[in-house]
Amino acid sequence: MEIYDVIVAGSGAAGMTAAVRARELGLSVLVIEKAHKYGGTSATSGGVIWVPNHRLGTDDSKEETFRYLDAVTSGPIRRDRVEAFVDTGSELVAFLKSISMEPVVMPWPDYFAEAPGARADRSIVFPIYDGRKLGDHFTTMREQFTRFKLLNRYTMDFVETNTIASRAKGWLLTLAKVTGRYWTDFGTRRLTRRDRLMSLGGALIGPLRQRLIEKGVEVRLGTAVEELVVEGGRVTGVRTRRYGNVATIQARQGVIVCAGGFEWNQSLRDRFFTVPGSIRWSSTPEDANDGKLLEAGLAIGADTEFTETGWWVPTMPTPIKGVSNFEEIHQAVFDVGRPHSVCVNRNTERFVNEACGYDRFGDAMLRDQVATGANTPCWLIFDATFRYKFPAGGIMPDAIMPDRSIPPDWWDHYIFKADTLDALADKIALDGEKLKQVVARMNDYARTGKDPEFGRGDTAYDRNFGDPTLIPNPCLGTIGKAPFYAIPVNLGDLGTKGGLKADARARVLDREGQPIPGLYAAGNASGSPFGNCYPGAGGTIGPAMVFGFIAANDIAEQARAASLGGYMHNQAAAAE
Ligand SMILES: Cc1cc2nc3c(=O)[nH]c(=O)nc-3n(C[C@H](O)[C@H](O)[C@H](O)COP(=O)(O)OP(=O)(O)OC[C@H]3O[C@@H](n4cnc5c(N)ncnc54)[C@H](O)[C@@H]3O)c2cc1C
Repeated sequence: MEIYDVIVAGSGAAGMTAAVRARELGLSVLVIEKAHKYGGTSATSGGVIWVPNHRLGTDDSKEETFRYLDAVTSGPIRRDRVEAFVDTGSELVAFLKSISMEPVVMPWPDYFAEAPGARADRSIVFPIYDGRKLGDHFTTMREQFTRFKLLNRYTMDFVETNTIASRAKGWLLTLAKVTGRYWTDFGTRRLTRRDRLMSLGGALIGPLRQRLIEKGVEVRLGTAVEELVVEGGRVTGVRTRRYGNVATIQARQGVIVCAGGFEWNQSLRDRFFTVPGSIRWSSTPEDANDGKLLEAGLAIGADTEFTETGWWVPTMPTPIKGVSNFEEIHQAVFDVGRPHSVCVNRNTERFVNEACGYDRFGDAMLRDQVATGANTPCWLIFDATFRYKFPAGGIMPDAIMPDRSIPPDWWDHYIFKADTLDALADKIALDGEKLKQVVARMNDYARTGKDPEFGRGDTAYDRNFGDPTLIPNPCLGTIGKAPFYAIPVNLGDLGTKGGLKADARARVLDREGQPIPGLYAAGNASGSPFGNCYPGAGGTIGPAMVFGFIAANDIAEQARAASLGGYMHNQAAAAE
């Protein structure tokens, strides 16, 4: 029987942080990963981490953070859990720095930029990481979301991405730098198409994995944790399956469930979500998070919370057959809020400020679907000016992807086009008169700069992704230049928000509210500390890492207390 102090199930941001911390605290650790690559959704992600009051040279404070969180969160949020998150964030950051991970503060406005206490310096990222440092483990790291790379190939950091995407001053030079460093990396080019440099989620998972390599911690790939072993009311290990072989591995001090959400489990979606949707709308890797450990937790009496909702992001799946969802899915994070466009439900009515944060957009879709039954999918309607300037899902701007290069079978299936709004409405079963009225109103708002219906472009967050050359409102441009286009938008996700109910020490609670000894959870495997709220960029990975860190601290603390207790007991026995 294999025995470790700590078993971590899942190798995303939550699992890697828990494992690195537990090892640094002197515990023996095994990370068990179901997929054949490590890193989870986290490795594919933007790698942005929301850590308020991170103490990296800004003047944020705990009070300011709570002013913001109190204003934007609602529902049954547990104060002690949010406090644990806020109090431990800066400790986590200091710890990461101590293992040579140097965070960079990004100037992203919080997602409720209009709320009291909102700021634009709570999100951090890590600089580009050289995958060579991973040695043989480079190839087994899950690759970044291909859409985050230039032409699905060249690694870019956020600054480079923004410079090129917005054709800001010096963009051609940046383009040359990004492609040049790829092609002049002769050694790697001889071996693989994959860029050795890693940014975003890769720059987060890479250094954590490196630390585990240096500390001799195994990440066992292709091994699913299927059951939690309970002895005498305590979780003492896990049952795993690897290539059909079942094994039991013992955890002396604790098991930390960091196995992500349940977005790839259709029956759990159907059971928990108000609007079930399809697993294929998810933008997370399809071979990863199937919620099996949520089921394993339920089987031993664990409680759950916030399972009714996801981290929403509107998605547009391109009609390409036989490819993984990574090739298929386009996150329409910013596309839906660009000027010269509007979103309507299938009753031809607007339902949201289209330029708001993606999670709010998804939440609005969900509410509208519940209210009208005419959303999921809704429609993004845009004109030729939008088409010229901006991408829409899988359709790149006209200059890169003119209409003639769009595959013929995408027309009137994925993308619809007509010379008039009436004809477009006809094609997609909307009400032509209502569509013309919606567009006429949007055109008025573009002229006045005010959207009295939904306030599009009123906040710093909205304006961040508008067109700065548009006056008076960068998020509002007239929709008037034919031809007109439409693309359906689904209620996609970045993972699920709910899972095992855990306390401020990341201990999983049973249905009586008591901690289940030996069992911890972090990341999307557990309920979000913010409930149904996505407070800022990095609002999922931030708490995932913080609670992974907290779980490791708690286990080490318990182990110390137990060994001290044992020592005292022995001393007392010897004295007698
Ligand atoms: C394209 C994209 C960009 C994103 N960008 C950001 C961002 O910048 N900032 C942000 O905060 N959020 C972002 N998100 C969301 C974020 O990536 C996830 O919410 C977060 O990574 C979840 O972390 P985790 O550690 O809980 O789970 P994951 O990173 O998904 O890791 C879970 C791991 O557990 C493994 N696993 C599952 N079941 C088992 C089992 N039974 N046994 C063993 N292993 C198992 C999975 O294979 C997986 O590797 C993004 C998501 C996507 C798709």
